[in-house]
Amino acid sequence: MAHPKTERTLVIVKPDGIQRALIGEIMKRYERTGLKLVALKMLVPTEEMIEEHYLLDPNWKKNVGEKAIASYVKKGETPPSNDPIELADLIVARLKKYMTSGPVIAMVWEGAHSVELVRKVTGGTEPRSAGVGTIRGDFVLDSYQMADSADRAIRNLIHASGTVPEAEMEIPHWFAKEEIISYRVPHEATLYDVDLNNILG
Ligand code: ADP
Ligand code: MG
Repeated sequence: MAHPKTERTLVIVKPDGIQRALIGEIMKRYERTGLKLVALKMLVPTEEMIEEHYLLDPNWKKNVGEKAIASYVKKGETPPSNDPIELADLIVARLKKYMTSGPVIAMVWEGAHSVELVRKVTGGTEPRSAGVGTIRGDFVLDSYQMADSADRAIRNLIHASGTVPEAEMEIPHWFAKEEIISYRVPHEATLYDVDLNNILG
């Protein structure tokens, strides 16, 4: 089995993240966990790339629809539809518009538990209810309610892979093998080596 330090995850700074001048702030938060940046590029995605990206996981539609319905029910509000798949189709159309509206920055971060750690630092899907201290919770304010009433995607600054299998499908969708660089940084010894050698002279 590969060492846990080789786990990789995909992060995309969405168009609103770039417009808000939060690129450095966002990268700093992932970088300071000890994770390592192994791929990076700026591009304007096409609608096809976005549709394919969100449909890589066959369960995503059901999950995204159910999550939206649950959020309405929790607040005692009525969802725009009670059919998760119908809601998901609507969300995909909104995402195509949102994610192709300007440049995005795609990155691959590598390190132990990278998928879980990046999600923790990123925060929940809806900024309104995302935890304090997370990027989505601290830097933006959007909600299901505002997104629905304007028929648009929730603006939450970042995409981050939700699970390891999702990351494994998403990374090759955005990066060719040669664009991902294997290299070492000195602090990996402190994070991962069994013994902390050569500290005392
Ligand atoms: P996450 O990005 O937290 O993994 P999902 O994979 O469930 O969230 O959804 C993908 C993206 O679709 C979200 O980040 C958000 O921008 C948008 N989105 C999700 N649900 C809705 C919704 N009900 N209405 C509008 N946009 C949504
Ligand atoms: Mg997701």
